[in-house]
Amino acid sequence: MNSPEPMPFVDLAAQRRRLGGQVEAAIDRVIAHGQYIMGPEVAELETELARWGGVRFAVSCGSGTEALLMPLMAWDVHGGDAVFVPAFTFPATAEVAVLLGATPVFVDVHEDTFNMDAGSLQSAVKQAHDLGLRPRVVITVDLFGQPADYTSVASVAQEAGILLLADAAQSFGASYQGRPVGCLGHATATSFFPAKPLGCYGDGGAVLTDDEALADVMRSVRNHGQGTSKYDIVRTGINGRLDTVQAAVLLEKLRIFAEELEARDLVATRYSEAFSGRALTPALMVGATSAWAQYTIRVPDRDRLARELKASSIPTAVYYPRPLHHQPAYAGGVVPPTGLGAAEELARSVISLPMHPYLEAPTQDRVITAVLASLDGTVGTQTLDGPGGGRP
Ligand SMILES: *Cc1c(COP(=O)(O)O)cnc(C)c1O
Repeated sequence: MNSPEPMPFVDLAAQRRRLGGQVEAAIDRVIAHGQYIMGPEVAELETELARWGGVRFAVSCGSGTEALLMPLMAWDVHGGDAVFVPAFTFPATAEVAVLLGATPVFVDVHEDTFNMDAGSLQSAVKQAHDLGLRPRVVITVDLFGQPADYTSVASVAQEAGILLLADAAQSFGASYQGRPVGCLGHATATSFFPAKPLGCYGDGGAVLTDDEALADVMRSVRNHGQGTSKYDIVRTGINGRLDTVQAAVLLEKLRIFAEELEARDLVATRYSEAFSGRALTPALMVGATSAWAQYTIRVPDRDRLARELKASSIPTAVYYPRPLHHQPAYAGGVVPPTGLGAAEELARSVISLPMHPYLEAPTQDRVITAVLASLDGTVGTQTLDGPGGGRP
């Protein structure tokens, strides 16, 4: 038997075919005008991003990690400060706190949405106080594309007197109770890493905010702490600028972004219908849409599923195999006395399937058929709680 044709996990080539020569033309324009650093496309992109996010200001930068770092620097987060982060996320979320000398305090998540549990945040704030740390910022993560439970998290943050930084690296384009991602925290960081829902052709990121003073300080931080003139240095900053070429690429990609989000949503809906009752599918909160950066299910034996899909030339990925508090680099972080059970359970059971806007119906069918066939082989040994406990 011939082995089936391989399929990409994220199909950037299909997007490129769709865009035709537009991206190349946009890059050529930058090369022609020669303003490679902070050229006109950067300002144009920032205007567009702010409009998408429903805020007054967008400050572009060199990566999603810098987009997390810059607001923390602007808020002067430093040693002795507690920064609350979910234990189940990409390393950058905790990394930026540690880089500034602050202590990451790990917060548990909800197993069904993968996002921060506001109750766990509340206990973590108390624990930080007890340890003599100064609670400063909570970084919520919109994992796999769905906004976190902002109503609950914001109310805990407000009560604790801490700032809310949204890590929207995976969720740009999504919405929460009719409001776009971008206006749900004091500041929102996003990433344009190529495989994110809105990706450029390299590294890139942006911070969105309604706070004019914060936007001004971040622009200074982005450019070595510049004051009123080039060699008036008023604070320690970084080189955090986004290349003009990447801004030009993003402007072209933004033109088709709304359609791409719709296409992702159709794929996710189809997957969820097919897997309903057979695997634990991602739960969308009422009033939330997802940018579907990943489509992630939970199964009792993900290694077996990965192996069997691979045999059918279907790629899978595990985001993330280890919660951050088990990473050697973050052993100095604070863990609640009751542990981080949901984060640990997710790290054991999650597996992500191919997801992108150009996943055609026949390819979706191939994934669905192969997943169901593999899960059929494990019927009777399903041990997860919830709706995935057997055949319908
Ligand atoms: C990708 C990602 C980042 C970092 O973005 P980069 O552009 O790669 O620096 C931060 N947080 C989350 C949740 C991410 O997925």
